[in-house]
Amino acid sequence: MRALRNFGERDLRITEVDAPPPPGDDEIQVKICAVALNHIDVWGWRGMAFAKRKLPITVGAEASGEIIAVGKNVKDLEIGQIGALYGANTCGTCKPCVEGRDNFCENVNGVFGFHIDGFAQEMMNFPARLFVPAPEGLDPVAAACTPITFGTVEHMLFDNAKLQPGESILVHAGGSGIGTAAIQLAKAIGCTVYTTVGND
Ligand SMILES: [Zn+2]
Repeated sequence: MRALRNFGERDLRITEVDAPPPPGDDEIQVKICAVALNHIDVWGWRGMAFAKRKLPITVGAEASGEIIAVGKNVKDLEIGQIGALYGANTCGTCKPCVEGRDNFCENVNGVFGFHIDGFAQEMMNFPARLFVPAPEGLDPVAAACTPITFGTVEHMLFDNAKLQPGESILVHAGGSGIGTAAIQLAKAIGCTVYTTVGND
C-alpha cells in the first residue's frame, strides 16, 4: 500500500509500505478517508524536532478513517463507522487521561505524523479508544479537520475562555483555519463575533 513518508532534509515521498497485520486486541484497523494539513506538518517537513524522532516516518497528524476491522476487546465500535483519529498517542491510564483530558497526558507517546507514523497512508491499526465516531451523515472530509483544528478552538474558547452564549468575541486572523473554526463555533452558540483579517 502507499504511504506519504518524510525522509528528512525536506524529502517527502509517496512510498510503498507493507499493509498492517490484523488489529491488536484493543485496536481497530481503519481505511484512511481524508488527511488534513496543519502547521505541525510544515514544522515536521522543515525538520523541527528531528532529534526526538527516527526518520523516515509516515506524515499526517489529523485525519478521518473508516473502520474495516476491530480487535477482539473492542465492543463499542463497528466496521463501517466513520470517525476522526485523535492525533496524540496518549496513555489512557494516567489521571488526566482517565478524566478525559488526554491533552494533559503525563505519558504521551508522541504525536502521530510528527514523532511516530501518522495518517497519510491507505490503512493503519489504531488504538480503539482514540477513535472519535462522527455523527451520522457527516462528510469524512469534514470529520478530518476536527481533532486539531476544531479541537484546538474548542479548548481555547470553551475550556480556557469559558465562552458563553450572548458574549462578544474578537477572533484575530479570521481567514485562517483556526480563525474560521473559531467564528463557526462562537456563532453556533449565539455569540457576536468581531474579526481581523489581513486584507479585504
Ligand atoms: Zn495519559
